[in-house]
Amino acid sequence: MLQQDHQQEPTYIIESKKRCIKLGMNSSEPRLPKNVMSELKLAEKKEAYKDILEVVKFFSEKIIKSLEGTPILVAISDENGYLLDTLGDETIKSTIAQLGIKTGIQFSEENMGTNVVSLTLKQNHPVQLIGTNHFHTFLYNSACYGVPFHYMDVDNALLGSVCIMTAVILHNPFFLMTLTTVVDSIERELLLRKQNNKLNIMNKIMVNKNKKIEEQKKELEVINEFEIKSNKSMEKELKSQEEFLANISHELKTPLNVIYSTIQLFNMYCKNGLLDENKDSIFRYINSMMQNCHRLSKLINNIVDLSKIEAGFFELKLSNNNIVEIVEEIVISVTAYIDIKGLSIIFDTDTEENIIACDPEKIERILLNLISNAIKFSDEGNEIFVNIQDKNEFIEISVKDNGIGIEPNQLGLIFNRFKQVNKSLSRNAEGTGIGLSLVRAIVELHQGRIYVESEFGKGSVFTVELPKRIVRQEDIFLSSTIRNKTEDLQVELSDVFS
Ligand code: ADP
Repeated sequence: MLQQDHQQEPTYIIESKKRCIKLGMNSSEPRLPKNVMSELKLAEKKEAYKDILEVVKFFSEKIIKSLEGTPILVAISDENGYLLDTLGDETIKSTIAQLGIKTGIQFSEENMGTNVVSLTLKQNHPVQLIGTNHFHTFLYNSACYGVPFHYMDVDNALLGSVCIMTAVILHNPFFLMTLTTVVDSIERELLLRKQNNKLNIMNKIMVNKNKKIEEQKKELEVINEFEIKSNKSMEKELKSQEEFLANISHELKTPLNVIYSTIQLFNMYCKNGLLDENKDSIFRYINSMMQNCHRLSKLINNIVDLSKIEAGFFELKLSNNNIVEIVEEIVISVTAYIDIKGLSIIFDTDTEENIIACDPEKIERILLNLISNAIKFSDEGNEIFVNIQDKNEFIEISVKDNGIGIEPNQLGLIFNRFKQVNKSLSRNAEGTGIGLSLVRAIVELHQGRIYVESEFGKGSVFTVELPKRIVRQEDIFLSSTIRNKTEDLQVELSDVFS
C-alpha cells in the first residue's frame, strides 16, 4: 500500500522523504521552530533589507498571481532563516496560521530537514539562487523549497541574503522555471536600483562640481574686477604723473622765459647804448628776474624734497623750540608781502610759550606754503587768520582764509601728490600740486596730522596738529648752515609775487 502511495507521489517528494529519513528525521512530525527574533531586531532587519525586500515582494506577488489557485507560500527570510515577511495565496493562509508561521521565527535547515538541490544560477552572478527542498506533511504531504538569495556586489562580496521558501502543494511542473525567472527579474531590478543609486551619486557629485565651478567663476570675476580697478587706478596715477610733468615743464619754462627775454632786452640796450636811458625800467626788470629765480628755486626745492621723501632720505633736524615764537615770527615776516596784495593777516594765540620738538626750518615751509595758498586763493581786501591753540596733547596751528574755498569732492584729493584742483576755479593761481603733499609729509614726519575744512565760495581752514614732545639733549641736531631768511621767504612766496 505504502509502495503504491509512493508510486502515486511525484518523484521529488519521494526523494525528499528519503533524504529526511537519511538525516534521521521523522518526515511526518516536523519540528517547530524555537528561536524567535525580538520585535526591535525584526524592525531593524526589515529596515536594513528594505530595498531587497521591496523587490522580492513585488516579484513574489507576481508569481503567486500567475499561479492562481496553487497554494503557494512565499516566506522571505534573512540569511539565518528568520522570517522577515510571508506572502501567500488565499488557499494557504489558514495552513500558515495553523503551522504558526509568522515573521520573526527561525526556520533552520535541521528544523525543516532539508537538503540542497541545484537551483544555483551561473557563477559570479550578483544574486545567487540556492534551492533546498524537504518533505512536509503539514503542507499536504508536499515538498518545500527554501531558496536563499545571496546578494553580492560587483566584486562578489556578500552584501546580504534573503531566503524565499516555497511550498509546492500541488505538483506544478512550471514552478521551478517560474521561480528562476522571478530571481532573474529580482536581480535585474536590484542592478537597476544600484545603477540608479550610482547615477544619483554621480549626479550629486556633478551638482557639487558645478557649484564649485560657479564659485570659482565668481571668485575669478571678483579678481577680474579688482584687476580692472587697479588698472584704472594705475592709469589714473599715470595720467596724474603726465599732468604733473606737463605742469612742471610749464612752471619751469615760465620763469625761464621771463629771465631769457629780459637778458635779450639788456643785450639790446647794451649794444645800442640805451642802458642809462632805461635805468628805471632796468631795476624793475632785475627785480622781476630775481622773483622768477626764486620761483625756480622753490620749484626745484620742492621737487628735490619730494624725491627725498619718497626715497626715505628726508630727515628732520629736530630741536626743542617755542612754537608760538616761530609761528609769530613767520607771520610778522610775511605781513609786508601780504599788504602789497591788498590783504591783511591776523595772528592770535591762547598760549605765550610752548616748547615742542620741531624742525623750525620745516615749520616755516609748512606755514609759508599754507599762507601762500591762502594769498593765492583770496581776493583783495580779504583777511587771513593764523591761530595757535594749546590742546593739551598737541598744539593746533590753523591758517584760515575767506577766499574761493574748495569743492567738497576735491577736499580728499588736494593732499595727494600732483593734485591740482580744476585750474578754471583756481583763477590766477599757478602751481604744480606738490605744495600740500609736501606739507602733509613734513607734518607727518613731526608725528602730527593736517586736515582741511572748506566751504566752496566762502573760504578754507587748514589745521596742523603737532604733538607736544621734547627731544633729549643728545638727540638735538645742531644746524651748521646759515640761512638767509629773507631769501627763503621770497622763495616760498615766489609763485604769489612773480
Ligand atoms: P599748488 O602748488 O598747485 O598750489 P598745492 O598742493 O599747494 O599745489 O595745492 C593743491 C590745490 O589745492 C591747489 O591747486 C588749490 O586748488 C587747492 N588749494 C590749496 N589751498 C587752497 C586754499 N587756501 N583755498 C583754495 N584752494 C586751495
